[in-house]
Amino acid sequence: MNMYNDYIIKILVEEHSIDVVSFGEKSDGTKYVIAGVILPKGLRDTQNLVDVSGSYFQLFNKLRKGFAQSFSLLERYNYRCQGVSPISVKEDLRGLARIAGIGERGLNRSILHKDYGCNLLFSAFYTNAPIKPFRGKVPDYCFKCGACIEVCPGKAISQRGVSIPRCTPYSLRACQKCLDICPVGNKKEDIYERKNFDNR
Ligand code: SF4
Ligand code: SF4
Repeated sequence: MNMYNDYIIKILVEEHSIDVVSFGEKSDGTKYVIAGVILPKGLRDTQNLVDVSGSYFQLFNKLRKGFAQSFSLLERYNYRCQGVSPISVKEDLRGLARIAGIGERGLNRSILHKDYGCNLLFSAFYTNAPIKPFRGKVPDYCFKCGACIEVCPGKAISQRGVSIPRCTPYSLRACQKCLDICPVGNKKEDIYERKNFDNR
């Protein structure tokens, strides 16, 4: 770790209760901080759009506030920062999470974290601050159990990955069965209970 990594972890994790923070570097040398927040229990199942948007608003707001404080600290040292929206279609946030060592993609193509499985919403910011990026081997927590293959209504998942044309007709109707069934993340249920969006 280095001083800037420590500052950012202190701000994001200790002061803003962001669940996962890591540091990465793209192949072109651009460094970034990636942050993940746990999606609350039942969010994927709820049909009430007000509840869904309210929950996402809280998650986005938590990330926004943590990033704003990080930017103001780094900018004080004359470093630049540029945020990436959690809903960016231009940036591959899952790819950034992978490079930063959070976890490999499972067969369902989601990034699998050892404790929270595929239940993280990611956001990131780029910076020219001298942060120390992750450089080790990315851990692979996928059990290769095949549960996501079996449950998929579009027969879209195979050992080779997810077929987008087969998945799309279902994902447009909010299918996320391959995420719901995934057993990775042994703290998932505890966290879900503690972070139930009803009591947020
Ligand atoms: S359901 Fe099983 S095979 Fe599919 S991503 Fe999760 S652990 Fe991997
Ligand atoms: S979202 Fe649904 S259709 Fe698409 S891969 Fe997952 S389970 Fe299959």
